[in-house]
Amino acid sequence: MATTGKIGVTTENIFPVIKKFLYSDHEIFLRELVANAVDATQKMKALAASGDFKGELGELAVRIELNEKKKTLKIIDNGIGMTEEEVDKYINQIAFSSAGEFLEKYKDQLSSIIGHFGLGFYSAFMVAEKVTIETLSWKDGAKAVKWTCDGSPEYAMEPCKKSDRGTVITLYIADDEKEYAEKSRISNLLNKYCKFMPVPVVFGKEQEWKDGKYVDTDKDNVINKVEPLWTRKPADLKDEDYNEFYRALYPMAEEPLFHIHLNVDYPFNLTGILYFPKIKSNVEIQRNKIQLYCNQMFVTDSVENIVPEFLTLLHGVIDSPDIPLNVSRSYLQSDANVKKISTYITKKVADRLDEIFRNERQQLEEKWDNLKLFIEFGMLTDEKFCERAMKFSLLKNTDGKYFSIDDYRKAIEGEQTDKDKKVVFLYATDVDSQYSFIEAAKAKGYDVLLMDCHLDSHYVQLLETKIENSRFARVDSDTVDNLIPKEDKSKPELTDAEREDLSVMFRSVLPKNAEYHVQAENLGAATAPILITQSEFMRRYREMSAMGGGMNFYGEMPEMYNIVVNMENPLVEKILSAKAAEVAPAQVVPDAAEDASEDVKRTVTEAKENAAAAHKADVEAFADNNEILKQVTDLALLANGMLKGKDLSDFIARSAKVVEDAYLK
Ligand code: ADP
Repeated sequence: MATTGKIGVTTENIFPVIKKFLYSDHEIFLRELVANAVDATQKMKALAASGDFKGELGELAVRIELNEKKKTLKIIDNGIGMTEEEVDKYINQIAFSSAGEFLEKYKDQLSSIIGHFGLGFYSAFMVAEKVTIETLSWKDGAKAVKWTCDGSPEYAMEPCKKSDRGTVITLYIADDEKEYAEKSRISNLLNKYCKFMPVPVVFGKEQEWKDGKYVDTDKDNVINKVEPLWTRKPADLKDEDYNEFYRALYPMAEEPLFHIHLNVDYPFNLTGILYFPKIKSNVEIQRNKIQLYCNQMFVTDSVENIVPEFLTLLHGVIDSPDIPLNVSRSYLQSDANVKKISTYITKKVADRLDEIFRNERQQLEEKWDNLKLFIEFGMLTDEKFCERAMKFSLLKNTDGKYFSIDDYRKAIEGEQTDKDKKVVFLYATDVDSQYSFIEAAKAKGYDVLLMDCHLDSHYVQLLETKIENSRFARVDSDTVDNLIPKEDKSKPELTDAEREDLSVMFRSVLPKNAEYHVQAENLGAATAPILITQSEFMRRYREMSAMGGGMNFYGEMPEMYNIVVNMENPLVEKILSAKAAEVAPAQVVPDAAEDASEDVKRTVTEAKENAAAAHKADVEAFADNNEILKQVTDLALLANGMLKGKDLSDFIARSAKVVEDAYLK
């Protein structure tokens, strides 16, 4: 006799609620049902192992059968099964009532939980209009029972004919969920969620190519690997095994650089394998993700709130039953277990890199360029990791040599300590465009680092704070003598008026789209007449604000350059003596007497202003007509890649004439 009853749910009708809330994630029903079947099978194994069950286990497997025509999907196991009482207890009472509670409790945040938390058995109703359970318990004398429910809170239970141990769940797929009655869709889902489940999951038969088409063989198509690599002992595995597993996870990706096998069982349980991928640009970063499993069941590939941000750049799998899945994502970060797990993984990653640094130094150097972005990102965002990484992080110089930070400091200390006892780390961001500066620094016995990664402007700031008594200077931020000032040098002695004239002269021949600070220096007769540098401080802030560092004030300022005039260069001396000969000194207007009338004072002020303006116009006219001045300025601009457009073509025409004069006359 069939019994009927009302499912113990507080919500009047739970199914529309489930459908509404879970709309985006209907597909997880399959994972939930297969997971239940796997559980029931594992329990059966345990019963046999403990001796509680003495009969025939049979070939333990979970089978998925799809009838595309009838639109039914069966999940079949030969696990422990359920007695009538158990169906009543676990399905009618517990499962459904906990669903009610669950929805009640989390209705505001459901969408953020979904995808993590399985709704268990009744998630079947997200895609089915009717569900049946036929089950026979392993217990002696148990009777098979069939449970039917059509999506209303009413169910029917009746005896049935099932004669083999286990459970068959049949889903009658609803009309608006037809995709779940398609073979390719089910096959994809099984691949996504069940690829590493611990019991064989069978879906149809393996196929072979015969007489021009694919036909079923009589071999079961097992879709999963029951013993994925991360569950095995590291001692039994070779590099090749890890690489092969990586290819299985990410078929399109390039070989990884290194891997880490994670394995801990106290104070939480976690296994997994993480890979350091080659990171060349930030576009690639997003593509492959760490996959999170719970007892070999795929949960998600967004682990953002579980591991520190920089670790999301890694690839691989993490498997832990201790990551709470039934809480919202924002809550995850504050969970004590998640915090421990996150600290553990960070530590393991640092340990592994440290080990590579100590034992596989050459490999580390070879792979450094592809690893650098990851490590710098980690150092910039994670204090603990940074502390560790100061030891194994490498610096690369413009000759392509690698050094640890400590070793590098020791190597440059002798030559590159300035008068304030700071060790100055010189760096270039582009070997080609900063070539002449790099060469000048090397000629002086200095070494120049290469910092060409797009996090480097931030990284340089960080290193300055971490390396005691250090300063970083880009190689073109000053003249080579001033980059690392050794003692206070004699400065040219100029009056204010002379300084002003020098500034007017150069500004009048420089491009108008930037600001200039003209300064006079004694750099020796053999050094170029003009050098153009950009202050380290200003440039860094402009770069950081361009990357969204928030310092917009600096970002909006025009480019600012230092024009260093070498007063000891003979060409400069020649320009200045020409100027002295051609430009009369500014007319000196005597100050008005203290007790002069306001009118007189005003007239005097005006006369001073007029005299200054007239003198400035004279200096500008001189500058505009002085070919040497133009030529040396343009050469300096050219050396910095700053000579463009008309200025460049004027320079070429002028130079052509100079060459003609030199060779033909
Ligand atoms: P959970 O799996 O989280 O306990 P479910 O709603 O998925 O919740 O299942 C409720 C209970 O029903 C399970 O704990 C289990 O006892 C029983 N059950 C579900 N599916 C099966 C199955 N295939 N074989 C045996 N028991 C099952």
